[in-house]
Amino acid sequence: MTLLSVHAAQERLLAHFKPVETETLPLMSCSGRVLAEEVMAIDLPGFDNSSVDGFAVMAGDVRDASPTSPRTLRVVADIPAGASPAVALASGEAARIMTGAPIPAGADAIVMVEDTDFHQRRAGAAAPSSVKVFKAVQRGENIRTRGMDVRAGEKILPVGHALRPQDLGVLAMLGKANVKVYRRPRLALLSSGDELVDVDAPLPPGKIRDANSYILSTLTREAGGEVLPLGIVSDHREAIRARLNEAVEQQADILVSSAGVSVGAFDFVREVVETEGELDFWRVNMRPGKPLAFGRYRGIPFIGLPGNPVSAFVGFEVFVRPALEQLAGRERTSRPRIRVKLAEPVESDGRESYLRAVLEEREGTFYARLSGHQGSGNLLSLVRANALLIIPAGVKSLPIDAQVEAWWL
Ligand code: AMP
Ligand code: MG
Repeated sequence: MTLLSVHAAQERLLAHFKPVETETLPLMSCSGRVLAEEVMAIDLPGFDNSSVDGFAVMAGDVRDASPTSPRTLRVVADIPAGASPAVALASGEAARIMTGAPIPAGADAIVMVEDTDFHQRRAGAAAPSSVKVFKAVQRGENIRTRGMDVRAGEKILPVGHALRPQDLGVLAMLGKANVKVYRRPRLALLSSGDELVDVDAPLPPGKIRDANSYILSTLTREAGGEVLPLGIVSDHREAIRARLNEAVEQQADILVSSAGVSVGAFDFVREVVETEGELDFWRVNMRPGKPLAFGRYRGIPFIGLPGNPVSAFVGFEVFVRPALEQLAGRERTSRPRIRVKLAEPVESDGRESYLRAVLEEREGTFYARLSGHQGSGNLLSLVRANALLIIPAGVKSLPIDAQVEAWWL
């Protein structure tokens, strides 16, 4: 069988995924959700307001003010944040004003309290009847004008944007109590293998613990998906079929299994998917994770990852994450990328290689060193890593200081 390039395999696979339906949720439940509506701005701030605690004045009145010849103004109003001032200043007058409070009519600048004789900064202190101003201000100084941050009608968040805390803040400012988002895609996850037992079960001779369920569930949730756990299934056709049918009943959007899809005598997952749908078995030109099964089980896309935990992890990053993100309606990947320099030479076998590495910053450049031996069963070198280095296909060795792309973990 010929080897498919990673890019070609991704393209073939991603052609089968389109965004799931949308739902409308209260804003507080929208963290991490992907926007399904475009968000347009209103004027922000919504009214002219003070950016400091101080005194609203007419700039012309204090043009010549200085520490040695202060200008004294009569304080005719006290405007806390949240107030709606009715006063209009006349020449020679000032109003005490707090940060965020609306500018009274007549005022065209704010003098900071630090530039006046009103040093009474204790909370609750009453406004003085007059104030000495020690410093001139420009017209408009310390005033945040209506629409200064963003103008009504400007597009601020696009469809496909995954909402972060600051985005929720701006949606709150806009009064968006309910937001249209994509629902979380449901990923049914199966660990196959007669050798597997769960973390809390006794460990008979010859058995190992199921690490992949924990790795792949966590990756799924981090990528915005919901996990339908199918647990561990033994290497028996009927058992596998029953679990996959459960996932169909639970309306999974994607089925993911680890192990059982290569050419071992007990690799039945492959066979079961084939009888209930169709299966392409690809050998992808990558390391680790060369064997990749992709198909449809009763109409639902199925991805069969290799069993070795590191291969399963890398297979998730390269194939499952983009599929999930496409299902989730995301326009951009959630895995941050960075260009780094090698702190040591690396060898590869010419396949597109994903090497476990530690990135360290020195004077503004990130340098990468391998985090341990790169066997696909060695999960510890992935634990010690904070990045995957991507060595392109066709490259067999790279010298120290060569530049490569890396994915932050
Ligand atoms: P397979 O793809 O079935 O040939 O499995 C490859 C290797 O991965 C074998 O050593 C398996 O025991 C191991 N393996 C399979 N599934 C898991 C799992 N869920 N957790 C940890 N190791 C696994
Ligand atoms: Mg096996």
